[in-house]
Amino acid sequence: MKISLDNRLAVVTGASRGIGLACAREFAAAGARVVLVARDATRLAAACDELVAEGLSAIPMAADLSDAKAAVALVARIESEVGAIDLLVNSAGAARRFAPDDLDAAAFHQGMDAKYFSTMHVLAPVVQAMARRGRGSVVNIIGQGGRVASPMHISGGAANAALMLATVGYARAHAGQGVRVNAINPGLTFTSRVEEGLEVSARASGKTREQVLADELARIPMGRMAQPEEVARVALFLASDAASYVSGAIVPMDGCTGSVI
Ligand code: NAP
Repeated sequence: MKISLDNRLAVVTGASRGIGLACAREFAAAGARVVLVARDATRLAAACDELVAEGLSAIPMAADLSDAKAAVALVARIESEVGAIDLLVNSAGAARRFAPDDLDAAAFHQGMDAKYFSTMHVLAPVVQAMARRGRGSVVNIIGQGGRVASPMHISGGAANAALMLATVGYARAHAGQGVRVNAINPGLTFTSRVEEGLEVSARASGKTREQVLADELARIPMGRMAQPEEVARVALFLASDAASYVSGAIVPMDGCTGSVI
C-alpha cells in the first residue's frame, strides 16, 4: 500500500525532536507540506533544516502550546499564512515523572499543562475548522501510561487518561462531518524523554540507571523499546485516507506489554 499525502497540509506539534520529528519527516516524505511546532525556536529551526536538507517540506512555527492564547493564535496564523490544515499530529508534551512522595499540586498541574492542555488548546480550534470544511484527520500521541498506572507517572498518566477520553469524544462529535480523530499510545520509545524517566526511577528505587533500563526492557515482550519512526508510520496510516473508516481508535504500541483487550 502506497500512502500519499500530496496536496495536504499537516501540522505536527512537538516536532523538534523525538516522535514528533519522526512524524514530520514521515508525513513530508509522503508528500505533505508540514508545519513543525515546538517552543524552542533554535532547536525547531535545526529540525526543519534537517528535513529541508533531505529534500522535504518543513515550515517552523515556534509556540508554547500550554498557553491557550498562543495556541489559538498559532492555528489562526497557519490557516491564514500557510493554508487550511488537513492533518494534525499532537506530539507536544513534556509531562515530568515524579516519585509518589514528591507529588503535590504543582506536580499535578505540570502534568496537565505539559500534556493535556498542550494538546487540547490546539485540538479544539483545528477540529472546529476541519468540521466547517467537512474534512480532516487528527492523530494524538498519548501514551500507555494513561491506561496502565505507574507510581512514577501519576500526574502525566492522568493527563494521558483524560486525552484518551477527549480523543474518542471528539471523534464521536465530528464523525458525521468528515473529521476523524485517533490516538496512538506508545510504550517506552527511544527519545530524549526516556533518559529523564530513567533518572527519576533510579533515584526513587536506589538502582542504577542501567539496572532500571534493564528491568524496563525485561518487562517488554518484544525485548526492546519502540523507535520513533515506528510510531510515525502508524501515525501516517491513521492520518491518511488509507484509514478512512477508522475514528475513535486508540492504538497501543508497547511491544505487547499491555496484553489486554
Ligand atoms: P520529546 O523527545 O521530549 O519531544 C517533545 C517535543 O514536544 C519537543 O519537540 C518539545 O520541544 C515539544 N514541546 C514540549 N512542550 C511543548 C509545549 N508546551 N508547546 C510546544 N511544544 C512543546 O518527547 P517524545 O518522547 O517524542 O514524546 C512525544 C509525545 O509522546 C509526548 O507527549 C509523550 O508524552 C508521548 N510519549 C512518549 C513516550 C516515550 O517513551 N518517548 C512514551 C509514551 C508517550 P520544546 O521543548 O522546544 O518545546
